[in-house]
Amino acid sequence: MTSTISTIQHWSDGAEHPGASGSWADVTNPATGRVTGRVALADERDARHVIAAAAAAAPAWARTSLARRTQVVFAFRELLNARRDELAAIITAEHGKVHSDALGEVARGQEVVEFACGISHLLKGGATAGASTGVDVHSRRAPVGVVGIISPFNFPAMVPMWFFPIAIAAGNAVVLKPSEKDPSAAIWLARLWQEAGLPDGVFNVLQGDKVAVDALLTSPEVGAISFVGSTPVAEYVYETASRHGKRVQALGGAKNHMVVLPDADLDLAADAAVSAGYGSAGERCMAISVVVAVDPVADDLVARIADRTRTLAIGDGGRAATGDGREVDMGPLVTRAHRDRVASFVEAGEREGAKLVVDGRTTAARGAEDGFWLGPTLFDGVTPDMSVYTEEIFGPVLSVVRVSSYEEAIALVNGNAYGNGTAVFTNDGGAARRFEEDVEVGMIGVNVPVPVPVAYYSFGGWKRSLFGDTHAHGVEGVHFFTRGKVVTTRWIDPANRPAGGLDLGFP
Ligand code: NAD
Repeated sequence: MTSTISTIQHWSDGAEHPGASGSWADVTNPATGRVTGRVALADERDARHVIAAAAAAAPAWARTSLARRTQVVFAFRELLNARRDELAAIITAEHGKVHSDALGEVARGQEVVEFACGISHLLKGGATAGASTGVDVHSRRAPVGVVGIISPFNFPAMVPMWFFPIAIAAGNAVVLKPSEKDPSAAIWLARLWQEAGLPDGVFNVLQGDKVAVDALLTSPEVGAISFVGSTPVAEYVYETASRHGKRVQALGGAKNHMVVLPDADLDLAADAAVSAGYGSAGERCMAISVVVAVDPVADDLVARIADRTRTLAIGDGGRAATGDGREVDMGPLVTRAHRDRVASFVEAGEREGAKLVVDGRTTAARGAEDGFWLGPTLFDGVTPDMSVYTEEIFGPVLSVVRVSSYEEAIALVNGNAYGNGTAVFTNDGGAARRFEEDVEVGMIGVNVPVPVPVAYYSFGGWKRSLFGDTHAHGVEGVHFFTRGKVVTTRWIDPANRPAGGLDLGFP
């Protein structure tokens, strides 16, 4: 069989180019295991070239009227909405998530584009007449200039869209450094901006790995960094970019707990645990990876989760339907190395004494033999000292921890190093309210297992899930991509002229 290998390049000044580094990395289709493309890996020269394009375009874009900027963002929204299937297919081909899930990712990104269409309202400053005699005060917000966005493999379209619609609407120029594992979505988005009428140089894509990231973190021309990825890299990005004088928001990893209280509807809780644990093969920073079963629900809950888990169909998410006319539920893992790493956690869990209720290593996949398959896996009797509990696995492995009380559940959630998302399942409003108050986590679901905030709220965790103090999108996003100015004005009115004279006291 012949197959074409695509070439995925940088994008700056409104055009694709290979850069000068001569370095490339393979991009694979995880459902077939085949190499489908090669992506350019920037060296420092390539990075300087792309950043310079953004720096050259930024001043004119910052001066472009809000009316014009909003029109461009609206046009982008219309094109994205009309062509979302195309983008979803690109995501599935390089990431592996099923088509409907990829469409969901695009829809959540589009929400932020829609939020950014209201930038005129969001950038309104305050004004005070007569703060002192004849003195007025007003505030205004200016763009930062060039902003760098560094994104992970698991949401190649949505995560960049958490940031760039707001950054661009607010008058900044952007350099996006996507994951080298699924880099094509970024180029598709760049073309869409061009079609929407965005001036060349305002949206740029720098392909690459650590070398490209380091160039963004240290470049004097970059004013802000938005990063999303694993915790060790997030911490490194935060420290390095801060040291180089930039504002930084660096979102890291997660270990999200779902607490099931004794009064919960166990069928709904089991549905939620399976959907949130295995959706996108567990490769979501808001995936549920730990179910905390409060006595006496564990036996019943584990049985219901296990029954549902065994019904899931695993396969190539790019095919519209499987033989029986149904889209598969879960695709492959992103790379062979990641699949093997996740499988090694299953081995470790067994070794450390957790009870393996469903073993995904034996699940048959409806796809090519060389795909990076690992089926949904369920552990019961997990304890907080086991590696399946302490590590972010980022795969379809769900661990059930049994606790005897609400207090024990809260201590477990709050004792965890991460604080991205959590959920409580209960029909008791008082208990839910208490949970909301007690947990040290940024995003909380009440009978909602994946509580990703809507675009006009902000997304972000606590503790080792976020470095920096600004969450993504919503008003916090607008704040991050702009700098404030406060203007104090006194116009001399000849009819009411101040007395004048020298006064060296503090005004
Ligand atoms: P990753 O940290 O390996 O990579 C993220 C980005 O950093 C990529 O663009 C990559 O090229 C770059 N990078 C990788 N290693 C680097 C290094 N040593 N120095 C500089 N840059 C480097 O993450 P990933 O595997 O692509 O994504 C999965 C991780 O992202 C998980 O930990 C997941 O929880 C996290 N994530 C978090 C959120 C959130 O909102 N908190 C959202 C999505 C994903």
